[in-house]
Amino acid sequence: MKATGKGPKLLRLNNQKRVLTLLRTLRVTSRQDIAQALLLSKNTVSLIIDEMLENGLIDELGPVSVSAAGRPKIEISLRPEKLTSAGIMVGHQAIHWCVCDYFSRIVVEGNWRARMTQPSAALNELGRCCGEMAQKHPELIGIALGFSGIVDPLRGWMHLSSWPGWQDVDLLTPLRRHLAVPLCVMNNVQAAALLSVQQLQLPAEKSHFYLRVAEEIGGALVQRGEVFNGNSWTAGAAGHLTVQPEGPRCRCGRRGCLEAMIGQTAIEQQLAQRQAGLSWQQRDSAPEIVAEVMTQAGAFLGKAISQIMLLLNPASIIVDCPWNDHPAFCAAARETAEAGMLRFILEHTAIHFLPARIDAANGLALAVIEQYEQRIA
Ligand SMILES: [Zn+2]
Repeated sequence: MKATGKGPKLLRLNNQKRVLTLLRTLRVTSRQDIAQALLLSKNTVSLIIDEMLENGLIDELGPVSVSAAGRPKIEISLRPEKLTSAGIMVGHQAIHWCVCDYFSRIVVEGNWRARMTQPSAALNELGRCCGEMAQKHPELIGIALGFSGIVDPLRGWMHLSSWPGWQDVDLLTPLRRHLAVPLCVMNNVQAAALLSVQQLQLPAEKSHFYLRVAEEIGGALVQRGEVFNGNSWTAGAAGHLTVQPEGPRCRCGRRGCLEAMIGQTAIEQQLAQRQAGLSWQQRDSAPEIVAEVMTQAGAFLGKAISQIMLLLNPASIIVDCPWNDHPAFCAAARETAEAGMLRFILEHTAIHFLPARIDAANGLALAVIEQYEQRIA
């Protein structure tokens, strides 16, 4: 799909992208069904599919029996291993990376350690690793790198990050020096948000809010399949909603932010304060204390959820949090969020507590795919 230009060429390219999106979503379909779903002529679809067949991107699975007269449908499916993408999540503990196939299934993954203090040295090292990755995986359609902090994906720029403590750093230019494969940078939480919507198979035409609790707490609104950035790329920063005005000081300088009340560090501190040496990992040793802490934490989350509901009115709120494991946490969050909330809003908002954490690197790889499918104006 290299052709670009105006007029029919552009129309064809955008039709190819629409077909690709449908093949990714449906997994198995037919030329006739694609034509019907995208309101394209059978001839247009056949030309696109034949070209993909020639390029080895599609398998013909065989005819399916149809009762109606006419040409039998031949089921087709993408060969997802032919179009892979990579995500590299620069996290606090380590750099986690993965290469995924076109259906977001992880092909290979791993961790690196890199010194992140000096932006230029760290970006050089990351760029070198991207280069190696592109060499090993010639079918890569792109690589996305994720950071925490305020990242402008269009400019490829990091404005501010509390970790690794970078400010006004041009991320893309030094990375691009090393390779020809398309690169993009974005915020880790925003990438994870895209994947959460896909994993839960939520309707793409609606808006969904994703909340990620780790050492830091972040959130993102996914609207019509795209992350809503806001004016300065900070929309969704739900970790700094005030949930306890007299609470402890947050790293942002204010008191009682959600992050200061239920972030990983906060909960570990609360457990240790209640019983010396108690940690989340040893939660089974003091179930009553843990349940108390979790009930309180759930109530704080519920306060934040009700603010998100009122302000953004999303169809779903997706909670990706280590405390989801504890039933008292989820129950208290739901109860507090629902208390006093308009029934009409509640009936139209689904709250999902994810049973397993979202891999942001996998989300970054999905962002590459979604960018690849984006229509060209
Ligand atoms: Zn804060």
